[in-house]
Amino acid sequence: MRLPHSIAGRLTSASTWIAFGVLAPLGMVAISGMMLLDLRQDAWDKARQTSSNLLQVIERDIARNAEIIDLSLRGVIENIGSPEVANASPTARKLMLFDRAVTAKDIGSLLVIDEYGDIILDATAEPARKLNVVGRDYFEIHRTRADQGLFITGARTSRLTGLRILVLTRRISKPDGSFGGIALSTLRLSYFDGLFHRIGLGAQGAINLYHRDGTRIARHPYVDDAAANMTGQPTFERFVREGSGSFVARAALDGVERNYTFSRVGDLPLILNVALATEEIEAEWRPKATVIGLTVLLLCGLIIGLALLFGRELRRRSAMQAELSRLSLTDALTGLPNRRHFDEAFAWTATNATRTGASLSLLVVDVDHFKRCNDRYGHQVGDLVLRKLAACLSASLRNSSDLACRVGGEEFLLLLPGVDLEGAMSIADRVHAEVANLCVREAGIERGGISVSIGVATGSKQSSGLAWDDLYGRADAALYEAKRMGRNRTRFAVPSQVRSLGGARALQLVST
Ligand code: GH3
Ligand code: MG
Ligand code: MG
Repeated sequence: MRLPHSIAGRLTSASTWIAFGVLAPLGMVAISGMMLLDLRQDAWDKARQTSSNLLQVIERDIARNAEIIDLSLRGVIENIGSPEVANASPTARKLMLFDRAVTAKDIGSLLVIDEYGDIILDATAEPARKLNVVGRDYFEIHRTRADQGLFITGARTSRLTGLRILVLTRRISKPDGSFGGIALSTLRLSYFDGLFHRIGLGAQGAINLYHRDGTRIARHPYVDDAAANMTGQPTFERFVREGSGSFVARAALDGVERNYTFSRVGDLPLILNVALATEEIEAEWRPKATVIGLTVLLLCGLIIGLALLFGRELRRRSAMQAELSRLSLTDALTGLPNRRHFDEAFAWTATNATRTGASLSLLVVDVDHFKRCNDRYGHQVGDLVLRKLAACLSASLRNSSDLACRVGGEEFLLLLPGVDLEGAMSIADRVHAEVANLCVREAGIERGGISVSIGVATGSKQSSGLAWDDLYGRADAALYEAKRMGRNRTRFAVPSQVRSLGGARALQLVST
């Protein structure tokens, strides 16, 4: 099966191969790039999902513990006013008021404080430890606001135990609604450390728990800046403003870029965030991406290089072909178009003349007694004469469409499209004039030493056919006549009379 010419032409064109060889690898680079970005996106999705799951688990644990403490505080408040409790012995009172939850190791103290700020009941000490909390934020808030509900402080150091704690309080109201003191529980920060400690987050990952007031309650891994206040830090402000979400930012503390996933802990004034270092999120992806990326780039570079080389070879080949085809149409000795070129030129010139009705003239030029010239001066001088003659013929032409060819040993043809008999005769005169000036001094050939005979035939749509045989035959016969009449002259054939003689090729020749 043969490919259509235009497709076959494109497939052998160097530009097509170069374009294909460059565009295809570029496409591969683009697709690989997209795949790598997709893999990176997967790593990020996984990290975000992990962060969000962690956040939920931790948040639930903290909220549940806060609820247990709150329930204990509520129990204390509900029961403290009852006469049974009031009349019971201190030991019995403690058993009635404080449930077993207070013995959990993370709960430091569970206290009942009267309206003057003094401890009146202490779950873990008998008699109650001595402490006055007047002026403390949790005491003052319940004293001034009856509707406060559960109050949770930021992180602080306990005056009773010296441990780092959070304080959770509820107001005790007297039957008339006036302030009757507070129920107080503490929660050791070691609880959070224990909670966070079990979670693996990578070397640069972190979990932080903040109070809304900006104090850091806990951080994993542990850093010794417990008093740090995050108020005004852009990341913290964003936690407070947005409540929950995820974003990437560089940490002020250590300059590491992290993905922060954050959320509020239930409806408590606590903010929890899980931060994973960007570098660690992409830790698996990066080496893979580097290897795949470099391999693809290398291979594509190789393909592009080969395509360019291949394209260059194709160009060379087509340049060579063009040169060969030029040579195949050129006469090696004179550089003039050869017989094959003439045949092609004649074919389309004749077709054109038939279509337009223009004249077409043909001159057959033959060197006179060239054999003698060769015999006398040698073959090399003969060659030189032929080259000079070729130059004379080229110089005699007028139009760019005129064509001078060497078609035999010392025989030349001039093809003159659009030129009538008169024009052709004038060109023949110019040829004679040019040849009259031809000389090869070094060989002793002076001006006038070389002459040519010329046979002319003109064809047109009206006067005669434009077939090659016809035109050439007539011009050749005219040349023969010129030779016969003594050489160094032009003879032409009269077309109309050729026809009247019934195609017998007997020509009426008129001398110039
Ligand atoms: P006439 O006037 O009748 O044309 O005589 P002539 O001698 O020119 O014609 P003839 O056909 O007898 O001889 C042509 C000569 O041209 C014979 C050949 O040696 C010579 N010739 C043909 N080709 C070349 C060529 O390429 N170089 C040289 N130097 N001579 C050539
Ligand atoms: Mg000759
Ligand atoms: Mg000859």
